Amino acid sequence: MRYRSTRDAAHTATLSEAIRRGLAPDGGLYVPERLPRLATEALAHLAGEDAAALAAVLLRPWFAGDALEDALPEICRDALSFPLPLRRLGPATAVLELFHGPTAAFKDVGARFLAACLQRRRDAGPLTVLVATSGDTGGAVAAAFHGRPGVEVVVLFPRGMVSPRQEKQLTTWGGNVRAFAVRGDFDACQRMAKQALADTELARAHGLTSANSINLGRLLPQMVPFALAGLRYRRETGRTPGFIVPSGNLGNAVAGLWSREAGAPVGEVVLATNANRAVSELLDTGEWAPQPTRATLATAMDVGAPSNVERLLHLFGGPAEAAATLRAFAVDDAAIREQIRIAPERWGEVWDPHTATAAAARERVSEGDWVLVATAHPAKFEQVVEPLIGRTLPVPPALAAILERPGQAPTIEATVEALRRVL
Ligand SMILES: *Cc1c(COP(=O)(O)O)cnc(C)c1O
Repeated sequence: MRYRSTRDAAHTATLSEAIRRGLAPDGGLYVPERLPRLATEALAHLAGEDAAALAAVLLRPWFAGDALEDALPEICRDALSFPLPLRRLGPATAVLELFHGPTAAFKDVGARFLAACLQRRRDAGPLTVLVATSGDTGGAVAAAFHGRPGVEVVVLFPRGMVSPRQEKQLTTWGGNVRAFAVRGDFDACQRMAKQALADTELARAHGLTSANSINLGRLLPQMVPFALAGLRYRRETGRTPGFIVPSGNLGNAVAGLWSREAGAPVGEVVLATNANRAVSELLDTGEWAPQPTRATLATAMDVGAPSNVERLLHLFGGPAEAAATLRAFAVDDAAIREQIRIAPERWGEVWDPHTATAAAARERVSEGDWVLVATAHPAKFEQVVEPLIGRTLPVPPALAAILERPGQAPTIEATVEALRRVL
């Protein structure tokens, strides 16, 4: 199996190369040359297995011929080591909880898989994962790489601009994970990371790489929860459910669509966004126009120009074709609040602001069976959720353990020179 850039079919790579590089040399995103397809029957007997066992079968064609192929079952066991419960909420609705990992949000799935792949890479030399974060991604990446031999992690976050709980998730690790509080905003952190990665001498000296959501090593494992939930739902009901996916950079949505192409019993994939409407307007009008980012309650989805749009358009063949097949619903902050407020009575659930966008979209899709994809634990967003439901939320144990440890992050200036000195 080889992978090509979304921009130029001539730029190809093995899976290991694509994971090591992140972005293709022409600035495009890696996609498989041909989407692997398994017979749904070949997966059906895995409905009762755990996620790691299903992943090893589902992802095998994607790893075929790669240096990591033999290690795939071990990588799956290493990365998919926490529960992915699917719970029925009613006759035609279920919720798939992706937030039982170390940092209580769905990015743990992809970050742990990427870490497990990079730890087992075959190329020699140093490897430093450089991550600029506005909060959540950095925490998931730090947790995923902590304690893995042969990989260093450097986290850059805007000083004083992440929540106290997020800061703990970035700064309590020690060992191979170092965090720096940058005197600047998130864009400044991202600029520093980009400049360092583009500086060939610096990049070579430290083996710099990024762990952002365009990396195939994060995207591929995200197919697994969709396949697992689809198989289980079908085994219980005989019906194939659609999925409603809280979406920002569209990585999770693309993974859902790829899992359907790969043969998993996944029906329609509906995108739920916050008030950032670039995707819903693309699907309404058939025209792609990135927009300035708007701040909302579902902060991890505040994206005006989703990076995985290129993969989406590549999959369908163009904006008009995507618009003819896909649906997206934009949900504003008032509707997010309303869904959080009514959820205990309506569903017997507590939603975080991201999952609440999927719940709002559930009101707008009518026919059929639907799985709401729950991407974060509500206790991560207690400042929004608790006043709306009128009670305090218990913190999940993995998160509580992180919050108890002391954090440490030296402050640095927002320049690539300052970064060079600490590297
Ligand atoms: C990152 C994130 C999303 C959006 O996922 P994409 O793959 O970027 O579309 C949704 N919810 C939460 C909690 C997230 O952290």
